[in-house]
Amino acid sequence: MIQKILIANRGEIALRIVRACRELGIKTLAVYSEADVQSLHVQLADEAICIGGPRSDESYLKADRIIAAAEIADVDAIHPGYGFLSENADFAEQCESCNIKFIGPSSASIRKMGDKAIAKDTMRKAGVPIVPGSDGPIDDETDAVKTARKIGYPVIIKAVAGGGGRGMRIAHNDISFAKEFHVARNEAQKAFGNGSVYIEKYVEKPRHIEFQVLADQHGKIVHLGERDCSVQRRHQKLIEEAPSPFLTANPALRKAMGKAAIKATEAADYEGAGTIEFLVDAKGNFYFIEMNTRIQVEHPVTEEVTGIDLIKQQILIANGEPLGFDQKDITFERHAIECRINAEDPARNFAPSPGTIGLYYAPGGHGVRVDSHIYSGYQIPPYYDSMIGKLICYGSTRQIAIERAFRALNEYLIRGIKTTIPLHKAIMADPIFKEGKATTAYMEDFLTRNP
Ligand code: ADP
Repeated sequence: MIQKILIANRGEIALRIVRACRELGIKTLAVYSEADVQSLHVQLADEAICIGGPRSDESYLKADRIIAAAEIADVDAIHPGYGFLSENADFAEQCESCNIKFIGPSSASIRKMGDKAIAKDTMRKAGVPIVPGSDGPIDDETDAVKTARKIGYPVIIKAVAGGGGRGMRIAHNDISFAKEFHVARNEAQKAFGNGSVYIEKYVEKPRHIEFQVLADQHGKIVHLGERDCSVQRRHQKLIEEAPSPFLTANPALRKAMGKAAIKATEAADYEGAGTIEFLVDAKGNFYFIEMNTRIQVEHPVTEEVTGIDLIKQQILIANGEPLGFDQKDITFERHAIECRINAEDPARNFAPSPGTIGLYYAPGGHGVRVDSHIYSGYQIPPYYDSMIGKLICYGSTRQIAIERAFRALNEYLIRGIKTTIPLHKAIMADPIFKEGKATTAYMEDFLTRNP
């Protein structure tokens, strides 16, 4: 039985993991950077060890120091959260060889799904629909142009090692392709240390719909329904909800996608919580784009709709326990919407807005959940992601969830910095969003309509 877990992360997700461990009676060890001494997860964990300087590459990305901390404190398992080392196959392998349970799939699974070209090939072989594109990475420009023409413009050039919405470029013709191909390769090399790219048909105005899956060590796989994450800015999610209004109007499609998600999870030889991401076009064609082999930022919307605690499930699975329910036991009772609260200034092109939080008051009441690590007087370090919290609102219908989110956003008080709260309020009041019509092209259009 797992007795103590090292949390290899910071911010709201570190706190989320501390909370799940508390309820399971498991001890926690926080590791933190010099910039996070005052962070809530450090205060609330049972033990804490400083692992280095403020920059991620001096601390949260330092696998050796994290493993050393795990050995000093004698932990049984490491929860990687999301981002940082959560999808780093070498780190998972290091944990495996030190006999520390990495809470997630095997390093082999991570490796297979982490290279997007290999992942797509795996899915194609398993009969899961994929976006038409190059067979694997393409490094030669002449070959690349030929492939792009064959696929048909517009195409999207994507980094095989990509993530976080970075390393993607769209090309509409041969001329823009030649330019974007080089930009994409350079960006990929800089951001991921791997300049390899592949090419895909650019699906116009799709919906981003992903399925949450759970797989135990005994071969059982279930899905917990979908999340619609179409509201994105620069390929980065801003708002996520469950269920997807598009699939509610197409129940047969939901069923087919759920089946494909299970098939994809099987093909990945998976264990733990994972997400199968699809793009869905207006006609209802769906295409696998990637599998995320970790817990995701937007997991709470699934928790609020199904009543299943995903972090606890990850830990129970890591502990070797069989899933305590079958597919038919999973019900979808409510509608939930999550707004990502970022320390950014929407009026200044989303420029980061770190600083000290003055007065802080988080909304509450019926159907409102706030997952956040901030408090009055908290200093937001400039070194990390700008997300400072997540507001999750739920109710028996989509309309109630939206009204509740609007109400809660109006209660939020975060003084001293700029946040995305005003933007979320405007979206909750926007007729197109309210009708459930948002595609991944929605935000660009919204920002043009609301300059
Ligand atoms: P990342 O791992 O960086 O998040 P994804 O492959 O998950 O990258 O894609 C992120 C987003 O980029 C998608 O939700 C979608 O909005 C857009 N995108 C990716 N591939 C395509 C495509 N082939 N056509 C249209 N949009 C795409």
